[in-house]
Amino acid sequence: MDALPTATAAVLDRDGLQALIEALAARGFRVCGPVVRDAAIVYDEISGVADLPAGWTDRQAPGRYRLERRADQALFGFAAVPQAWKRFLHPPVETLWRVRQGEDGMLFSSAVETAPRYAFLGVRACDLRAIAIQDRVFCADDCRDDAYERRRRDAFIVALNCSEAGDTCFCVSMGTGPRAEGAFDLALTELLDASRHEFLVEVGSAAGEELLAGLPRRTATEPDRAAAASVVARTAGRMGRSLETAGLQELLESNPEHPRWDEVAERCLACANCTMVCPTCFCTTLEDHSDLSGGSAERVRLWDSCFTLDFSYIHGGSVRQTDKGRYRQWMTHKLATWFDQFGSSGCVGCGRCITWCPVGIDITEEAAAIRATPHIQGGDHG
Ligand code: SF4
Ligand code: SF4
Repeated sequence: MDALPTATAAVLDRDGLQALIEALAARGFRVCGPVVRDAAIVYDEISGVADLPAGWTDRQAPGRYRLERRADQALFGFAAVPQAWKRFLHPPVETLWRVRQGEDGMLFSSAVETAPRYAFLGVRACDLRAIAIQDRVFCADDCRDDAYERRRRDAFIVALNCSEAGDTCFCVSMGTGPRAEGAFDLALTELLDASRHEFLVEVGSAAGEELLAGLPRRTATEPDRAAAASVVARTAGRMGRSLETAGLQELLESNPEHPRWDEVAERCLACANCTMVCPTCFCTTLEDHSDLSGGSAERVRLWDSCFTLDFSYIHGGSVRQTDKGRYRQWMTHKLATWFDQFGSSGCVGCGRCITWCPVGIDITEEAAAIRATPHIQGGDHG
């Protein structure tokens, strides 16, 4: 087995991890990481190691999520949490501007609050890729979102090489994990056995190097690196499922009338859960609210979904009238036309849409079913 590539690396114990969290807070970051809340592991503000979900794991399956106790005290011994980091960088509800009646006319003001400087602790490989995908959406020159870009630019990212894969994970087949690659400041691998509980920390940026230099740590040895590589390899071998991506774009684009779309539409509730939990989905709608006196108003942006009827409303009616059309649009966009738009797949294999679909619809199973019997060409896309 290959050891992790040589990079500046150190080893922290639990006290060192606590010092990392405190050092980030001392630099003015709002530190967010996994916590147990409402019978799930979610990302929220943390102040120390004691907030992390020690000894908890999750069991995920299509339409099913349960927390269970582990036999050890792992701090990161679980798979993808229900909501990704998207809710911090691209909030579900955001007021864009306000206007009020002044003595000399209407007074407009930007309502985007001063962005907190976030530090994210435990960003998995798939979610790191998802953030990179949303960067392409919100930081593009022709449609830049200033608030997103500010939050993103100021964020400090502590990535996580996964030690657990869920039943609904398929990052290996999407080429997105379980080893964190891409833009991070530091990356952790949890090393836990009968003789130790430590964290190999790799450096990914100058800011990460500066922070690490001030922490109580020891230099990583070759055995530490080999142990970390073995954690990642073991996780890669435990993927719950896979998605065959070869020729998938052509396959989906050439089968818009495949009978499988009708079959999945029979089950789909058009509830939009899959898009809410997906770390790459980015669609929004706008609402204007005014007070009863007419003295002030505000424009609010909210997450929206291609599963709602109104989402495709264009003068006179919705383009996608049926559940079949909406499911097909979502899956074909994720796995096919996303390549034309953004140069990559829109799916990072996190498995959230499978776990959180109330009827257990599985994107990997739907793609495999069309691959098994491709045969229908052309047709109406409504
Ligand atoms: S489509 Fe599903 S598996 Fe893929 S990134 Fe979105 S939520 Fe994750
Ligand atoms: S696929 Fe599942 S989660 Fe998505 S809209 Fe249909 S029922 Fe809801």
